[in-house]
Amino acid sequence: MSGEQAGELAELGAEAAVCTLCPLAETRTKVVFGVGDPAADLMLVGEAPGYHEDQQGEPFVGAAGKLLDRLLGEIGFKRSQVYIANVLKCRPPNNRDPLPAEIDACSPYLRRQLVLIDPRVVLTLGNFATRLLLKRDVGISRLRGQVYPWWNRYLVPTLHPAAVLRGGAGLMEQIRADFALAKQALVEATKVADPAAEQLGLFG
Ligand code: URA
Repeated sequence: MSGEQAGELAELGAEAAVCTLCPLAETRTKVVFGVGDPAADLMLVGEAPGYHEDQQGEPFVGAAGKLLDRLLGEIGFKRSQVYIANVLKCRPPNNRDPLPAEIDACSPYLRRQLVLIDPRVVLTLGNFATRLLLKRDVGISRLRGQVYPWWNRYLVPTLHPAAVLRGGAGLMEQIRADFALAKQALVEATKVADPAAEQLGLFG
């Protein structure tokens, strides 16, 4: 990422910090834009901030975040070496599901983040991020377990870590296997010189 692009990402974050594009602006404590290395090869996309994220302004700092950090550690990454963002930058009240209008209003931020960070591999966590980026109307349990070619990059869909925490040991094995797939995809990824992802029409 060039200095100019890093500046653009910082500007985008500043814009998001005062965003009023949807009603979540009225109930949020802090906007949760994203965290990590802006030049990361691996970008993780979750659903929306929960209580702790809304308080602290950082994605995945609660129980699901602890699991995420552990899974990243198992494939050789610290949180600071990847970039983590969500589909929604503001917490839906009582952690309800994101509404289609909220996703429409907020997704341009994620789109710009993807274009600027330009990761080799995107790991989508759960149904909302996977549906938005992969554009398949199929549940995550059927989509996970494989690597998808995606705009000259790779996309690896996996379970949401919060769902894994609620579920059984089988789910833990699945999310681990998907993180290992993302690591493998990273090794294989070849980056296009000037991907101009914007022109490729991210989000279709
Ligand atoms: N769940 C998410 O999808 N994102 C967060 O940042 C925290 C919990």
